[in-house]
Amino acid sequence: MTGRPIALPVLNDEVQRPEYANGPRSLDAVKLLRVSVTDRCNLRCIYCMPEGGMDFHDKDELLQAPDFEAIAAAAVEIGITHIKITGGEPTVRRDLLDILRRLADLGPDDLSLTTNGLQLHRLAEPLREAGVDRLTLSVDTLQPQRYEQITGGGRIEQFHRGVEAAEDAGFEKLKFNVVVMKRINDDEVADLAALTIDKPWTIRFIEYMPLGDSRLTAPGVDPDDVWVDNAIVKDRIAERHGEPEPVDRGSEVGVGPANVYRLPGAKGRIGFISAMSKPFCETCNRLRLTSTGELRSCLFDGGEVDVMPALRPSPRRDEIVDLFGRCVVLKPETHSNRGNRAMSQIGG
Ligand code: SAM
Ligand code: SF4
Repeated sequence: MTGRPIALPVLNDEVQRPEYANGPRSLDAVKLLRVSVTDRCNLRCIYCMPEGGMDFHDKDELLQAPDFEAIAAAAVEIGITHIKITGGEPTVRRDLLDILRRLADLGPDDLSLTTNGLQLHRLAEPLREAGVDRLTLSVDTLQPQRYEQITGGGRIEQFHRGVEAAEDAGFEKLKFNVVVMKRINDDEVADLAALTIDKPWTIRFIEYMPLGDSRLTAPGVDPDDVWVDNAIVKDRIAERHGEPEPVDRGSEVGVGPANVYRLPGAKGRIGFISAMSKPFCETCNRLRLTSTGELRSCLFDGGEVDVMPALRPSPRRDEIVDLFGRCVVLKPETHSNRGNRAMSQIGG
């Protein structure tokens, strides 16, 4: 395989780094907080969860709505403008709308949610009313049987109902995440890209990342047999649709790690998130919060700080702000190739 980054040792809290350095290790650079509200999910995607299921956290270990509010308030205070809610699957959390209303009231520039979409037929409208600005949905195939296999039992019709409900609720510029896997769905990338021709949607092709335990990291499965370089994905799309034109996103809302293009004459866009072949650590502008209260510096590597002690018996704002500063300096130069936590615990 070509183009993969060299693995660096996993960094931890003992590593000495200058506090408030410039670049991605400066708090000034952090604009997005990804908040995982649960590690549970109603699906078992092949790349995200192991065959026999996961050991989920007990409900009483999870942060509660006022905890999320206190942490997000500190985040907004230090200049974080974008908050993304994720999971596991965020829609399985019963108090999701309460959490969202509290975060929306803090007035971030952008409040968005990432979901597998299966509960959107009943939740799209309430999510809009709770203050969600944008939705990202995950879908790796348009073929019913394949969808069922990849997701461990999901039904594509229910996903389509969710997409319709999202559009009806006013979420027009939907984003979709596609994890591309060799011989599993890589023959569909041009079909998926075609969805952007008539709709103002963004389809983002994500390189598979071998994180945590999943059916694809099980003994006997070589991640290199699954991984597809996004350069190949882009070529395949160009073969069918013509060369995609780069999009200059300037100062637009929600700018993430994707390189974005437009197919000739298309209303929407396609994007490539190439964390394995082209790590973008030097421009990383995000921190992550797990549902059990760890603030994480990186999706892959282990540098994290525990916020829970600053929340009990009641939230202490100055301590929480200080923990953001302690977390950001733990960001690695370049992430390693295997993470130390499951994707479903971090939320992508
Ligand atoms: N359950 C929600 C969903 O599926 O959109 C939110 C959480 S999920 C962990 C967030 C994103 O991570 C999804 O788009 C999913 O496809 C992606 N993801 C999960 N495991 C992955 C892996 N091993 N490699 C690349 N992307 C992955
Ligand atoms: Fe659930 Fe999302 Fe993981 Fe799929 S990718 S198992 S929907 S958390």
